[in-house]
Amino acid sequence: MVRDISDRKQAERDHLTGTLNRRGLDERLEMTCATARRYQRPVSLIFLDLDNFKTINDCHGHSTGDEILISVAHILLKTVRESDIVSRWGGEEFIILTPETPLAEAEQLAQRLRQKLAEHQHPLVGQVTASFGVAELASEESESDFIRRTDQALYAAKAAGRNRVERS
Ligand code: GH3
Ligand code: MG
Ligand code: MG
Repeated sequence: MVRDISDRKQAERDHLTGTLNRRGLDERLEMTCATARRYQRPVSLIFLDLDNFKTINDCHGHSTGDEILISVAHILLKTVRESDIVSRWGGEEFIILTPETPLAEAEQLAQRLRQKLAEHQHPLVGQVTASFGVAELASEESESDFIRRTDQALYAAKAAGRNRVERS
């Protein structure tokens, strides 16, 4: 049960990576989309999923997998703008909410993130890549449809061979 402000903050955070969790993202997405609709401002989402992460866990163990999730979150946090919002959506999936950002700029950011992740050498494991979907909020689109559409772009990036960015 959420009792006070610090409990509430905890409830919005992912314990492993320290990024926002799904609940924290949902709250910010709702606020950001409301502002974007009202003032007709652009807002984009970047949805990323680590490639072949099950194999990495199977070969190197779950705690190595956890270390990778922590360093991936760190790379995301240090690469995005301060106004961008990084969250762990679940498992090995992250969503980045980019207020005031049209599709082309979000796509550039996703490419930069993709490259940074692919360049990083993890101890014991080496390269870990991710696939990305990017979308900009459409007029009269709900938050859940916005996420679904970004996820569909991610699915297309997986289908096209992984370590790629696809836009919706
Ligand atoms: P794809 O490239 O298609 O995304 O393949 P994948 O292997 O990454 O996808 P799949 O959904 O089959 O596997 C996701 C794996 O992520 C399986 C699960 O064990 C692992 N995982 C989920 N949450 C955690 C976690 O908190 N820690 C660790 N170490 N592994 C996790
Ligand atoms: Mg996944
Ligand atoms: Mg995966």
